[in-house]
Amino acid sequence: MTQFKELGLKEDILKGIKDLGYEEAFPIQEAVIPVLLTGRDVVGQAHTGSGKTAAFALAMLEKIQPKNGIQGLIIAPTRELAVQITEEIKKFGKYTKIRVATIYGGQGMGIQLDALDRGVEIVVATPGRLIDHLKRGSIELRDVTHIVLDEADTMLDMGFIDDIQFILDLAPEDRVMSLYSATMPTEILRLSEEYLNNPKQFLLDADDLSGDGIDQSFLVIKDRDKFKYLIDFIKPIKRQCIVFCSTKYRTRDVAKFLHQEKFNAVAIEGDMSQHRREQSMGKFRSGKADILVATDVASRGIDVPRVELVINYDVPNQELTYFHRIGRTARAGAEGRAITFVSYSSVGDWNLIKRQIKAPLRDLNQEMGIQISIPDPLKRQMPSRRYGGQSRSNYSRGGRSGGYGGSNRGGDSRDDRGGRKRYSDKDSKNSYGGRSRW
Ligand code: AMP
Repeated sequence: MTQFKELGLKEDILKGIKDLGYEEAFPIQEAVIPVLLTGRDVVGQAHTGSGKTAAFALAMLEKIQPKNGIQGLIIAPTRELAVQITEEIKKFGKYTKIRVATIYGGQGMGIQLDALDRGVEIVVATPGRLIDHLKRGSIELRDVTHIVLDEADTMLDMGFIDDIQFILDLAPEDRVMSLYSATMPTEILRLSEEYLNNPKQFLLDADDLSGDGIDQSFLVIKDRDKFKYLIDFIKPIKRQCIVFCSTKYRTRDVAKFLHQEKFNAVAIEGDMSQHRREQSMGKFRSGKADILVATDVASRGIDVPRVELVINYDVPNQELTYFHRIGRTARAGAEGRAITFVSYSSVGDWNLIKRQIKAPLRDLNQEMGIQISIPDPLKRQMPSRRYGGQSRSNYSRGGRSGGYGGSNRGGDSRDDRGGRKRYSDKDSKNSYGGRSRW
């Protein structure tokens, strides 16, 4: 167990961490913070939930001086993530004099210009608006010594790579930089080769895609029955729930239905104004709303620890999205469940995702005795075993039956790694696994 004070952090930062009740450093923090503090660049394959924000933010706070201009720059793909990072930094830095500004599109320039005028040492920004400020001269990067690219693969998906290169080309060459990405596609590796200097790499073990620590299940139903089942699953929840939909229209419809049924739900999707998105996220984060209905992009990176259930109302369009979505539950060592609704036409897509799931996966059709009658052309996509009703043990969790609504995870023994992943240090082939939580 590594204490934060062993990582070489100052007293005023340790005090902020103590206020948050963090008792020990998470593996990624233990691995990354000392490296960044020595001034070496880092590439970390990390998901939200791993504690990466604290890893880069604490190292940055340690090195930055008050009143010396903008020294820290964090680039994140979405406004929501940028706001969340800022909030965390403010908490960690509560006893320092470091000031942070969030720079993102959709908010009036005036507020941001005022904050910048008052002086800040750290800027957390989305790429587009940051470029606007760079072009008008309201942000200059000449004093920047620490740069973070968070969720680099999402930025790639969102088409921000050119923007990021534009920004990095304006930053001083002598800087400490770290890049975090849940996946490492070639473009990201290329970016890191070009802009990072001999980075130390921390890669997740291959078993990361297991959704370890999350009780995962699926239910094959007709599309038109989804809403009925949604209500059944969310009625008993005691904490919060996120419902993921594949389109904005769907998101709106589901949120509308939930309102009609008197659920305390908010929605977040790309077409909503920035103000309304912030309102929704604010309500959900503060616990004023129990249910968040969302599309993928709008909610990437969102960390709300009280989420006990994620429902994939629609099958995600790719495997990684599935793991990102379910990663919204079981945060910071809490327990969580994820249920995927598979409409008949999505069985093929779901089978592709299923192959990547290494953890036990419960078949709710079998457990709940729900028959399915798939039209013939679609049947060909179905694995015969699952619908034979014979092989339940392959899909159920250790004899557990029933309990679909409650948050009880029955006989599941969340392993002793507390849901955190194992990191291997690519340089030395060491694995940071000596402790039980890995
Ligand atoms: P992140 O991966 O940065 O989104 O962090 C995931 C969650 O873990 C956040 O809610 C953090 O507040 C929480 N967290 C991060 N580090 C620690 C720690 N060392 N101890 C307890 N909670 C932590």
